[in-house]
Amino acid sequence: MTRVPDLLVVTNADGTRSGRCECGVPVGVVPAGGSLDVLAREHAQHLLTEPCLVASPERVRAPRRLPGTGKACTRCGGEIMWAQTRADEHGAGSWVPLDPVEHPLGRVAVIPVARGVIHARKLAADEQHDPSVELQGRSHFTTCPADPRNQ
Ligand SMILES: [Zn+2]
Ligand SMILES: [Zn+2]
Repeated sequence: MTRVPDLLVVTNADGTRSGRCECGVPVGVVPAGGSLDVLAREHAQHLLTEPCLVASPERVRAPRRLPGTGKACTRCGGEIMWAQTRADEHGAGSWVPLDPVEHPLGRVAVIPVARGVIHARKLAADEQHDPSVELQGRSHFTTCPADPRNQ
């Protein structure tokens, strides 16, 4: 680790406080009057488990574009790529929209294309992503700016 990035805390209009690592990654929100310990813990967790542009630039690879053809999201108009999850014991695979470019916080492993279809699977909570085998995709459900849950 080159140096420890600062934890930046801003007070929002409603009194809640948001934490952000110096690298730009959000590290949680505490309610009005709440202790900032939660943000400090989340920040420490971020430094341990996620690529941080300030603390560990060597771990941050240039994001690659997913293989496949981009489509427009019907809600925000942004580019997405549909990927098929593998059929498993729960039945047939389903389709998930992904952002077209890798993201270091993505929790979807993207497997090289077969017959024009992008295959994807959700990374297990404790699974380390291996960039030499799979791409690191991010579900558009978590990033779509037209989704109220992301606002
Ligand atoms: Zn950071
Ligand atoms: Zn969208």
